[in-house]
Amino acid sequence: MDDPPPMSTALHLIPPDAPEATPVMAQYMALKAQHPGTLLFFRMGDFYELFFDDAVQASQALDIALTRRGQHQGQDIPMCGVPAHSYESYLAKLIRKGFRVAIAEQTESPAEARKRGAKSIVGRSVVRIVTPGTLTEDTLLDTRQHNHLLAIAEIGGETAAAWFDLTAGRPAVQLLRTEDIGALAERLQPGEILLPDDMAEREMHASLAPFKAALTPLPRSRFDSANAAKRLHALYNVGTLTAFGDFRRAEIAALGALIDYAELTQKHELRHLSPPQQVRQGSVMAIDAATSRNLELTRNMKGERKESLLAAIDRTVTGAGARMLASWLAAPLNEVAAIDARLNTVEYFIARRESAERLRLNLRQSPDLERSLARIALQRGGPRDLAALRDALAQAAAMRSHLLAMPRGEMPSLLAEAMEGLGDHAALADHLSRALKDDLPLLARDGGFIAPGYTAALDELMSLRDDGQKLVIGLQQRYAHESGVTGLKIKYNQVIGYHIEVTALHADKLHDRKELFIHRQSLANAARFTTVELSELEKKIAEAAARALSLELQIFADLAEMVMERIAAIRMAAASMALLDVTAGLAVLAQDHRYCRPVLTDGADFSIRGGRHPVVEQALAQTSAASFIANDCDLQDAQRLWLLTGPNMAGKSTFLRQNALIAVLAHVGSFVPAAEAKIGIIDRLFSRVGAADDLARGHSTFMVEMVETAAILNQATERSFVILDEIGRGTATYDGMAIAASVIEHLHDQNRSRALFATHYHELTTLAERLPHLSCHTMKIKEWQNDIIFMHEVVPGTADRSYGIHVAKLAGLPPAVIARAESFLAALEQKESAKDLPLFTASTAPAVLRESVSPALDRLKNLDPDDLTPKDALREIYELKSLVK
Ligand code: ATP
Repeated sequence: MDDPPPMSTALHLIPPDAPEATPVMAQYMALKAQHPGTLLFFRMGDFYELFFDDAVQASQALDIALTRRGQHQGQDIPMCGVPAHSYESYLAKLIRKGFRVAIAEQTESPAEARKRGAKSIVGRSVVRIVTPGTLTEDTLLDTRQHNHLLAIAEIGGETAAAWFDLTAGRPAVQLLRTEDIGALAERLQPGEILLPDDMAEREMHASLAPFKAALTPLPRSRFDSANAAKRLHALYNVGTLTAFGDFRRAEIAALGALIDYAELTQKHELRHLSPPQQVRQGSVMAIDAATSRNLELTRNMKGERKESLLAAIDRTVTGAGARMLASWLAAPLNEVAAIDARLNTVEYFIARRESAERLRLNLRQSPDLERSLARIALQRGGPRDLAALRDALAQAAAMRSHLLAMPRGEMPSLLAEAMEGLGDHAALADHLSRALKDDLPLLARDGGFIAPGYTAALDELMSLRDDGQKLVIGLQQRYAHESGVTGLKIKYNQVIGYHIEVTALHADKLHDRKELFIHRQSLANAARFTTVELSELEKKIAEAAARALSLELQIFADLAEMVMERIAAIRMAAASMALLDVTAGLAVLAQDHRYCRPVLTDGADFSIRGGRHPVVEQALAQTSAASFIANDCDLQDAQRLWLLTGPNMAGKSTFLRQNALIAVLAHVGSFVPAAEAKIGIIDRLFSRVGAADDLARGHSTFMVEMVETAAILNQATERSFVILDEIGRGTATYDGMAIAASVIEHLHDQNRSRALFATHYHELTTLAERLPHLSCHTMKIKEWQNDIIFMHEVVPGTADRSYGIHVAKLAGLPPAVIARAESFLAALEQKESAKDLPLFTASTAPAVLRESVSPALDRLKNLDPDDLTPKDALREIYELKSLVK
């Protein structure tokens, strides 16, 4: 549990029994009314205060004290507060719990307010609304993960999505089918999803159910494409968007809503955005939400990063590199040339490991350029962000000179582009080095971050201030001498400024010298005084300090502007560094784990020799002496559909998944865990594995299984890759087997995809007799002394039995139960053979199907010949004939 923060005393501004709203309360309420749906953090001195219901909610969520201060309309005002200097941790907690927070700052000092009139209160305004999708602080963000804001718009029957990570500033937009929204959300894992309110209601029950907590419904008016176009023209300073692409209205509306929301919450224009990138439908391998979850591509089943494919392959050393790798994995490419470009770079680094390591060393020392840049652009940056730029750009320069020294001829195109992209920022880096001190405050307004010698004007003000401080030391010596109190000290604090302090014991000595020492405060153990001279000196010091601070702030603004002028080039440098990190990391992975370079083709190949499961292999290496058994998989046309049988625990699921994961890795441009791999480009990847309940949508395990299977049968094409594990397991045996058999038939005859189908219904293997592209494989096992040993080896053939009872025995079921099960099994096996079921004879099922779907038969059934005139009968015959055609 967190310590409750200390409470503020700032509410003395509200008289305890005020009949009406005090000026401060009136100001609070006006701001609150302008920001409905948020908790208002109302800055008062060193605290952010929350009042009324906000205070009740926040105190519960943060587990901090709720107090009452002052009254409003005869009622106590509930209040809680968090210290301004450490508010981020409280903010993070609130955001995580689903709150949105509006931050109202003081926009002037009390002195400035007083200048407007003795009774004026300090001006305040909301400087930012913090929502889950618009975070920029390192403390609120996961370094290794993008935090996407996603907007979805519907116009004229079309749906489009636009998204970005505010701290990366690269908006993307895509037209998509409504049913693909869930897959996109799964891929982006957005922190927040904006969509029209009526659509939110609909989608909450459909594809976006798992993202319910991230939805921010907005009025439809926010998705108006005409307004959006105007906003985009202004942002990019163009008369038309055609230079960036040929956008549909829905795309413009989604982009407009995205940018409008970001500007509204940031209260600032987004100067750091790159032009929107239009993502073509079908330009990446489509992976539906269920498949992505089932295969644990970026998260495990519990939603954590560990044990996912991403965690297993991530060898990046920077946050930006980790974020880029995650984006690559979420959107595998589907063009051979683009994939080869990445593979060439990885291969280049494998052949030059020392270079890769050298660059990784530079990267390790490089702060997060991308995020610092975004904060500077949003005017939320501090001196440390400038220093991050300085340090990262210095590393970029070192990396560039390393790459420049390498022979150009051998360099892959992507690497050459990255080298160019690193750019030459020496002048800016030098300038920042000269300007900034080593030790820097977090906030510019704390001052003291500009190095001596950077500008003469600041040096002069600093020495004035420092001279003043020297004079204070002189005064202290003089007063100690004059009062005869050797322990006399001149001290400083925020509340009363400079003052003379002596212990209570010596207070009288100063009281006796009233002409010199003016009493200020008596504490339990000390007494505090001032003098006219000290007050004057203090004023001079304060003036010099204030002038120095305002000059420092001006210099900060100038430096930030200098950065902004080069923002596109710096953004490019950041992206190039991330790319080097990802490709060098993939090279390290490939080399350390013996991965091979996959060959991508435009054909229907799928041949893997010695394939391994990237995650299970690493887990085995860490936890057990056994090593992973490599397996081949060859789905050439004559056997494009593999039916894999074998007992539970034999390794069927592992084999299915490993082939899907190898396919994904190959399309990402990574080497793959195999001895050889040749893969024809896959348009969509489908999986039906595992049994995850979808209680959020009220679906049972079996229902989920069938919904996912239906999606596969309706969508998979000849270019798709499908893995299906244990279809039909969730229902009664014969139902299950019947469904499994018809699914296999459909996949074989209609979808014609490359597919792996695992089952422990070994009876299904008889289908091979009449399905020419179906090939049967099984998991090799050894029987030994009435036990079975799993060899984890995939071999041609079929399992003759399911061995379920053996596995039950392994799991420790009591021997009596096992013996009883064996006798039941024997009895069942005697009674009937599943092979004789009508299911597996070719004609029955299709005949039934034909009957039920024939419109001609339906019509014939409904005809009553006695009711027909000869003319009607002839017309019916013609119509029946046309229906049969
Ligand atoms: P079930 O039908 O019960 O789902 P299964 O046949 O799908 O079982 P898996 O879950 O794939 O079996 O594998 C069981 C365990 O066997 C895995 O957790 C893994 O540790 C181990 N295993 C699987 N394949 C291999 C392999 N190729 N090499 C080494 N160990 C393996």
